[in-house]
Amino acid sequence: MGAGSSPCASCKLLRRRCAKDCIFAPYFPPDDPYKFAIVHKIFGASNVSKMLQELPLDQRPDAVNSMVYEASARMRDPVYGCVGAITFLQNQVSRLEMQLAAAQAEILSFQMQQQAASASFPMTQMNQYDQNLVFLSNADSFNSVDGSPEVEDYCSLWS
Ligand SMILES: [Zn+2]
Repeated sequence: MGAGSSPCASCKLLRRRCAKDCIFAPYFPPDDPYKFAIVHKIFGASNVSKMLQELPLDQRPDAVNSMVYEASARMRDPVYGCVGAITFLQNQVSRLEMQLAAAQAEILSFQMQQQAASASFPMTQMNQYDQNLVFLSNADSFNSVDGSPEVEDYCSLWS
């Protein structure tokens, strides 16, 4: 950025003089032109400049990093951008929560079975039914978790 050195990646791309107080220079070094190119393509240089100006200096590096992340996600997936990744992870969380609930139900069922055995009472019809439910829900959750995560997992939100 300083005098004598080459202009920052932004000024190079925009074909303008890189001033000493260039707002882009600290975050877009000339040796990484792609970083600014994608942010410029997705958000536009003037919007990026405005967003950075509205932030205190110490928060600008994080803002630039998140903009670069969002822009590259939007480049990879022009329809969903990083929302695709967020939705995929949210679906994964709910699948794992279901799996956890099934595992907890299974533990409870084993504990009840043990209690019943130690009290030497025969299993009731209701206990048998509960056990079947637990094993059925386990089979379901294992199938969905083992299935490789595909695009349709996170597209289902919009369908
Ligand atoms: Zn510059």
